[in-house]
Amino acid sequence: MTSDPLVNLWQATCAENPEAPALEGDVAVDLAIVGGGFTGMAAALGAAEAGASVCLIEARDIGHGGSGRNVGLVNAGLWLPPDDIERTLGRQAGECLISELARAPERVYSLIERHAIACEPVRNGTLHCAHSPAGYADLQSRHAQQAARGAPVALLDANEARARTGSPRVHGALHDARAGTVQPLALCRGLARAALSAGARIHGHTPARSVARDGDLWTIRTDAGTIRSKALLLATNAYHQPFAEVAPPHYVPVHFFQFATAPLSARQLEQILPEKEGCWDTALVMSSFRLDQAGRLIVGAMGNLDGPGGPVHAAWARRMLGRLYPQLAGVAFEHTWCGRIAMTGDHIPRIVSLGPDALSCYGYSGRGIGPGVTFGTLAAEALLNDDMTLLPVKPVSAHDETFTAAKEIYYETGATMIHALAARVG
Ligand SMILES: Cc1cc2nc3c(=O)[nH]c(=O)nc-3n(C[C@H](O)[C@H](O)[C@H](O)COP(=O)(O)OP(=O)(O)OC[C@H]3O[C@@H](n4cnc5c(N)ncnc54)[C@H](O)[C@@H]3O)c2cc1C
Repeated sequence: MTSDPLVNLWQATCAENPEAPALEGDVAVDLAIVGGGFTGMAAALGAAEAGASVCLIEARDIGHGGSGRNVGLVNAGLWLPPDDIERTLGRQAGECLISELARAPERVYSLIERHAIACEPVRNGTLHCAHSPAGYADLQSRHAQQAARGAPVALLDANEARARTGSPRVHGALHDARAGTVQPLALCRGLARAALSAGARIHGHTPARSVARDGDLWTIRTDAGTIRSKALLLATNAYHQPFAEVAPPHYVPVHFFQFATAPLSARQLEQILPEKEGCWDTALVMSSFRLDQAGRLIVGAMGNLDGPGGPVHAAWARRMLGRLYPQLAGVAFEHTWCGRIAMTGDHIPRIVSLGPDALSCYGYSGRGIGPGVTFGTLAAEALLNDDMTLLPVKPVSAHDETFTAAKEIYYETGATMIHALAARVG
């Protein structure tokens, strides 16, 4: 562990650190996986526990992508409300995805428990917070949709939501008891440790250079080795590093940044999120806030810290801290980091069939802990059992997003303008 200032908090506080040396030489396996985030690790763990031989390669360190950078909200669904999912996918396919993702937190927390993963798990629900009457109307509609499906959700009025968050800025909230928070990088590395114990091979610093069908097998070439495999799972999502011959994931990159304070005092923590729910909000440019195990407050929002709007987003984070919790105005941040989300046009993840016994899962649109673990687990099961009906969404033979560069600029410009405007309204 390090406590270097202004680095990714999850890297500085990660209690799990399995060894994953680069691949050298040739291996033959049942399942090859490219990408060492939640999707790839859940697939590796599930496949190895089912008795298959597995080799996962990761271009950088384990959890380098979205899995090591996210907020850590383990939600029971997508960002889209369930009626929208059913409208887009149709009733039957929509219900299948909704019910699979409703179980996703249970899947995640039971893996954490079974493998004793040291990832700061808290399962007290999440609070979807409204900062305005329009936001509260959105929550009322989401509450009705979720309650109609039997979900354990509760709508909190302004007084209840303020007591629960400790913030005077919240006008109401939707509590989802199925959800919770984790230290996301530690979850990802803990899944890797469990997969290694179950017999999987996991190699960091091993980018795939080419992936091709060769007779009845898939051949993945790396700098110092080759994997020959019956089945292939591509799990590179928004951090895909290109290689030859296989279609890359197609998505709109959207950035999200976070800032974390030093651990707050016991007195401060009496008033701030006393039950430690993770929070996100109904704003057009979505933001989040939560505590970590040590009592640091973490605020985040859509926006690219490494782009021209970086200073605007950083100033917004400082102001947001004081608005959410006036007693913290002026408190310095000790950690900051940013990541890339793979957004699809309809906000629904995709499974693309890359050829015989080969799938690519991506496009979680900002909801990849529960969905990533679910898609990875089920993709491995589907590939090893040659049964695509096990998948949470029907695989498609190709998926294309239009005007991705223009949409990326649109999202980033919108986030920068809204964060700049927030400064002017005080
Ligand atoms: C800032 C941020 C906040 C978020 N907050 C939340 C949240 O609170 N809750 C939630 O559910 N979701 C959240 N998400 C989304 C979630 O983090 C992602 O959907 C999820 O991590 C995707 O997991 P993955 O395994 O599919 O991909 P990733 O974790 O991105 O892993 C892909 C991996 O593939 C590797 N790779 C790429 N190309 C190659 C190659 N050629 N060879 C070998 N390896 C390669 C990359 O290095 C990377 O490590 C957030 C995302 C971000 C960025």
